[in-house]
Amino acid sequence: MRSWDWDVVVVGSVNADLVVGVDRRPAPGETVLGSDLATHPGGKGANQAVAAARLGGRAGLVGRVGDDGHGELLRGALAADGVDLAHLLTTPDAPTGVALITVGPDGDNSIIVSPGANARLGPDDVTAARAMIAAASVVSFQLEVPLPAVVAAARVAAEAGGRIVLNLSPPAPVPDELLTRCDPLVVNEHEATYLLGEDRAGDPRALAAALARSGPRSVVVTLGADGVVVADGAAAPVRIPSPRAEAVDTTGAGDAFTAALCLRLARGDPLLDAARYAARAGAAAVRKAGAQSSFPTPDELPPPPA
Ligand code: ADP
Repeated sequence: MRSWDWDVVVVGSVNADLVVGVDRRPAPGETVLGSDLATHPGGKGANQAVAAARLGGRAGLVGRVGDDGHGELLRGALAADGVDLAHLLTTPDAPTGVALITVGPDGDNSIIVSPGANARLGPDDVTAARAMIAAASVVSFQLEVPLPAVVAAARVAAEAGGRIVLNLSPPAPVPDELLTRCDPLVVNEHEATYLLGEDRAGDPRALAAALARSGPRSVVVTLGADGVVVADGAAAPVRIPSPRAEAVDTTGAGDAFTAALCLRLARGDPLLDAARYAARAGAAAVRKAGAQSSFPTPDELPPPPA
């Protein structure tokens, strides 16, 4: 197997998660009281880089933060987990991105993202980070940074022979050039339905098969506590259960899942085995509050479901 400098390089967002617990969410015009504010390091890009590093991967992050306290907090968190930050740039004229998160009584979350510095990540930043992206076995993307940066970085990765994993979150249209390079495209049920249209909602295996026919080399549909469906090329989709876990806070479950998937793919696992491992990481992440604070080390992974 070819040797790479990096298992996983993530091109993506860095946000401060501002989290309040609520009994219920306010209707328009209404005010409700919540818990004390908690500030956690987050952003889908940073989360995935941290989750991959915590599981033992060599991880790097290409992204942008503002020149402010949130930016310092986030740099510190990424550095503590050993993520390479040579291409985490500081933007002087935009605040660090924030995610405003409410967590309901069942651990369900609702999120508003204010992109701030993330919105300044552009193709020039990708050119500057070219050597790192080209030296990654797997390059991982989400859609909290501008699409031109994602498309440019995927092009660099493809030319270098790296594997491209795209988590279509938040859902947005992507060009065929990017979609056809995804191996896999990772979506939850909302994102799958977004791509295929409301009338296609229903059986997750059928969703995965329809998505696989729409361009990506492979597709993973995540189903929360119900596990995942994997469609690898033309093969029939396979359902994988998730270990049972008591959900305290589901923030970051998808990020832990995707990072673990990328790491195992980088280490040479077939997609199905990588997804089995990743479901254990996703389940571990719902058992604790926050995103990065909930990500497991290898010895914290629950056993595979019986
Ligand atoms: P997203 O956060 O992107 O919506 P999911 O909620 O589908 O993603 O979670 C990603 C993965 O994490 C799931 O496929 C599953 O393996 C695991 N997971 C999520 N929620 C739970 C849960 N309540 N119990 C066990 N595993 C879970």
